[in-house]
Amino acid sequence: MFDYNAPENCLKGKNILVTGAAAGIGRAAALTYAKYGATVLLHGRKEKTLNPVYDEIVKLGYEEPAICPLDLEFAQPEQYEELAALVEQEFGTLDGLLNNASMLGVRSPIQSYDPSVWMKVMQVNVNATFMMTQAMLPLMQHERPASIIMTSSSVGRKGRAHWGAYAVSKFATEGMMETLSDEISDIVNIRVNTINPGATKTQMRAWAYPGENPNSNPNPEDIMNLYLYLMSDDSIGTTGQKLNAQ
Ligand code: NDP
Repeated sequence: MFDYNAPENCLKGKNILVTGAAAGIGRAAALTYAKYGATVLLHGRKEKTLNPVYDEIVKLGYEEPAICPLDLEFAQPEQYEELAALVEQEFGTLDGLLNNASMLGVRSPIQSYDPSVWMKVMQVNVNATFMMTQAMLPLMQHERPASIIMTSSSVGRKGRAHWGAYAVSKFATEGMMETLSDEISDIVNIRVNTINPGATKTQMRAWAYPGENPNSNPNPEDIMNLYLYLMSDDSIGTTGQKLNAQ
């Protein structure tokens, strides 16, 4: 695991938006950021699936979170702008953005890959990350340091047969991170990095590897050190990096 011992309350006073916060790694990140003092803005496809995460954070006595439903498959740029306006109205600024939501699509050779699935995967994994980041960037430009994390995969660093659109979308995510980091790191106080979570026990992993014993992989809660490090001020100066949570 990435080696980092997060100080208590290291995220106090920070507003952090987590996409795909209803389940899996996003849910664990939202709860972890709240535990370390952040006010978490919970994004997900549906309000209904975000409510239990909201309730859990409140029950644990952490800062009250907010719920931001938006279906990334269909959302248009104006809806990201509307979300940014709401965040500005309610919270003023943003200190962190974890672009975590993704879809797997199908495991298939490129020659027979269904083009409609290909486009869906690109929309959710790449175009939505672009539009969310573009909309939130103005809220992250202030005197305090801010952090953007994009989520990659080992197949986004070395292509692998039959991973199709998912692998290509993760290569694109790495490229978006490098391009943005190079563009802004000298101008504003925002760092941009990617995390490859590594094999983790979630629904997506179960779909990708139906024959695998799910207990052979760590739980999302076990891989949070890097997620915490990149949101905490201890990572100031780290930008443009492709990092591994495990
Ligand atoms: P899950 O499938 O468990 O969670 C994905 C999340 O993304 C869900 O909350 C899901 O919402 C959300 N999401 C998917 N499509 C949309 C959409 N159209 N609109 C809004 N939200 C959407 O996956 P993981 O937690 O495993 O994955 C998290 C990240 O980590 C992903 O980027 C994945 O690629 C990456 N990753 C995961 C690995 C693993 O082993 N688990 C390994 C390498 C990378 P809903 O619940 O509504 O579907």
